[in-house]
Amino acid sequence: MAALNGAVENGQPERKVPPLPRPLRGLEVKYTKIFINNEWHESTSGKKFPTYNPSTLEKICDIEEGDKPDVDNAVEAAKAAFQRGSPWRQVDALSRGRLLHKLADLLERDRVTLATLETMDTGKPFLQAYFIDLEGCIKTLRYYAGWADKIQGRTIPVDDNFVCFTRHEPMGVCGAITPWNFPLLMLVWKMAPALCCGNTLVIKPAEQTPLTSLYIGSLIKEVGFPPGVVNIVPGYGPTAGAAISTHHSIDKIAFTGSTKVGKLIKEAASKSNLKRVTLELGGKNPCIVCADADLDLAVECAHQGVFFNQGQCCTAASRVFVEEQIYPEFVKRSVEYAKKRLVGDPFDARTEQGPQIDQNQFDKILELIESGKKEGAKLECGGLAIEDRGLFIKPTVFSEVTDNMRIAKEEIFGPVQPIMKFKSIEEVIRRANSTEYGLTAAVFTKNLDRALTLASALQSGTVWINCYNALYAQAPFGGFKMSGNGRELGEYALAEYTEVKTVTIKLSQKSP
Ligand code: NAP
Ligand code: MG
Repeated sequence: MAALNGAVENGQPERKVPPLPRPLRGLEVKYTKIFINNEWHESTSGKKFPTYNPSTLEKICDIEEGDKPDVDNAVEAAKAAFQRGSPWRQVDALSRGRLLHKLADLLERDRVTLATLETMDTGKPFLQAYFIDLEGCIKTLRYYAGWADKIQGRTIPVDDNFVCFTRHEPMGVCGAITPWNFPLLMLVWKMAPALCCGNTLVIKPAEQTPLTSLYIGSLIKEVGFPPGVVNIVPGYGPTAGAAISTHHSIDKIAFTGSTKVGKLIKEAASKSNLKRVTLELGGKNPCIVCADADLDLAVECAHQGVFFNQGQCCTAASRVFVEEQIYPEFVKRSVEYAKKRLVGDPFDARTEQGPQIDQNQFDKILELIESGKKEGAKLECGGLAIEDRGLFIKPTVFSEVTDNMRIAKEEIFGPVQPIMKFKSIEEVIRRANSTEYGLTAAVFTKNLDRALTLASALQSGTVWINCYNALYAQAPFGGFKMSGNGRELGEYALAEYTEVKTVTIKLSQKSP
């Protein structure tokens, strides 16, 4: 079984990986405008904003900058498309699934183009964009295509003279605000269940990475979704994003990004129309390695778990707790891995790590690395930018990290692995849980009792045992505590995109 997100799995036969096609060098960007009603529009203000290639720091192109008036237009279109009797409301459930399958077909057809655009805009290795991000998008679309005609209510026994049943109805206009670390995948995690349930959408991609989201607009039109079902407004968070979160005609909002902005969105929702909110926020995820673990597996998974996607993952294994007996050996092997990691041109198929997304994130990561040095962690390798190479940072490992250090508390979102030591299971449970976050946790042990004890004690939405980043379209994903509200993926996400209506009918004849 292949996982969505670069999972490192235990005991699975290695999958035969098809050859990597060549990226489309010099690809011309076709879609740079606002997508409303299946048409491309210039911004109402006349403004545009640039998007850059973070590995060369060159401007790729200018994008129409959406703001409140453009969001208003998009919402009007989405509202009209949701009206009773509209073409979209007349698409039967099976055909909704067919449209999603057709969209997946087009993603398969244009996979190289989309992976090339994603690599240009984010700097992530093309190999990853092609095999992990696009694979995840296609599987998620097909998974929800299968659900479209299986969303059922229940018949509920109440009183003999009454018939009571529930209908799971679409919510209406859904807002989606997405981040820059997995631009297309995070869009599809929201769009696929929203459309499967019959909603309409207004999407704002992250300002740094609008290209693949806009390309999806062209595919939505080609598939034959009626106008207004999917609308895409590129722009900035405090303007276009805030216009979505405060909008009175948006019924639900799904957001992936920082906890800080997640709070703003929830506040805006409560101050406007109490729209439903699902939030997928940050994490400071514990990765616990017990002394009896398969050490090769644990070292590799912990390494991939934190360095995957340049460290820019909400699931990053950014607090590695290692049992004291194996601590020196674990650190030694982790440093060997980090030193071997190939950093460079993301279009080179050998590259494992590209640049950070932008100057802000780059500066934030280097500042946190400096704090680690100052606070007394031992820098084992890396710890610097790669000179003369824009936004690239050397894979960095810190040992002798203690819980009070900033690198052990704050989300770094960069290629930095802090490794701590623990003595007992009770101690590591307490320390792993002493964070405001609760997104994911990983445990490496061969002892079933330990594995299950930790799986039940850790306060996080996902616990991986002897694997990392094993994400599947079928399995729910989301956070405890300040890592978020609600769940994406799996059957659980359907509840986030439907309202439950209770219909109660009084029978005229009394039962005998
Ligand atoms: P962010 O500000 O949370 O951005 C995520 C999305 O929210 C973007 O589309 C952003 O628009 C939008 N946004 C920003 N302010 C908004 C507002 N007031 N109302 C509505 N939408 C708004 O994240 P960031 O600044 O790019 O990254 C900062 C930190 O967030 C990272 O260091 C990392 O810790 C965390 N992060 C987490 C994830 C995740 O997967 N959970 C993803 C990305 C970042 P703009 O494009 O204009 O910013
Ligand atoms: Mg860009």
